[in-house]
Amino acid sequence: MGRSVVMQRLNRRWAQVKVPGCGWVRFRLTRAELPVAKTFRVTFSNGQWHIAFAVVPAPITAPTAGGVIGVDRGVTITAALSDGRKLNCPQLTVKERAQIRKRQRRAARAPKGSEAKAAEHAKAARLKAREANRRKDWCEKTSTLLARTYDVVRFEKLNIKNMTRSAKGTVEQPGRNVRQKAGLNRGILAQGWGLLRRCTEQRAPGRVEDVPAPYTSLRCGACGWIEKKSRESQADFLCVSCGFTCNADENASVNVAAGQGGIPRPRQSAGAGGVTAAVSRSSAREPQPAWVGIPLP
Ligand SMILES: [Zn+2]
Repeated sequence: MGRSVVMQRLNRRWAQVKVPGCGWVRFRLTRAELPVAKTFRVTFSNGQWHIAFAVVPAPITAPTAGGVIGVDRGVTITAALSDGRKLNCPQLTVKERAQIRKRQRRAARAPKGSEAKAAEHAKAARLKAREANRRKDWCEKTSTLLARTYDVVRFEKLNIKNMTRSAKGTVEQPGRNVRQKAGLNRGILAQGWGLLRRCTEQRAPGRVEDVPAPYTSLRCGACGWIEKKSRESQADFLCVSCGFTCNADENASVNVAAGQGGIPRPRQSAGAGGVTAAVSRSSAREPQPAWVGIPLP
């Protein structure tokens, strides 16, 4: 437990903060309220000094009748909720990305050490910062929504391999430079996935759960049957057992809400073709429930 940061408001726009070993330092407020923080960080970027206060948002009390929500995080849909909602984290537009590339090209062409080079780099950095700001904003809003509406929020334990698959697109249209693009896109999204989980935990402490979920995408949300064949396409889920059909991400979030992702380890059967739960690299890469689809006695 540390003491709070000592701060004084000077007027509507300005305030000052006591920096140890430095004394009072004035700064311009970007929010109406003075922050109540335990720590702060001073940075220098784009030719300006910035001071940022670490503010932990106040916890939101559980609605008590909200029940459980499952959140499935993915590439095509950033967060698919088990109530059917599909939430997407805003990213940079194609135009904005083009602008960044333009600035980077200009910076590369500018003479070494020139002011123009620094200016172009700074412009590119500002554009990139926009994306991070949007992501943060989205995570704050979304986590508030989750904490306010539901008593328990369940997240699937992220499986990087599933994301890789999602990013690849379709077999018919693999596209060019898919690997690089997918990697980039995934990296950007991955930051949002982690942030959403952290923000939700702050707003709903003790009400967030992680579901170990190797089979959330393969399990039928209606009957519980787990089979790879139910997930023939990336977008759709069609249960081969009961015929239940659903958006694949939504189906996964339903399983996450139910806390049903993992299935009990199969019993070692003595007969031929008995189930072997060999843990190899290949089975770790891709969920391969060899025993499912076979009705258990
Ligand atoms: Zn089913």
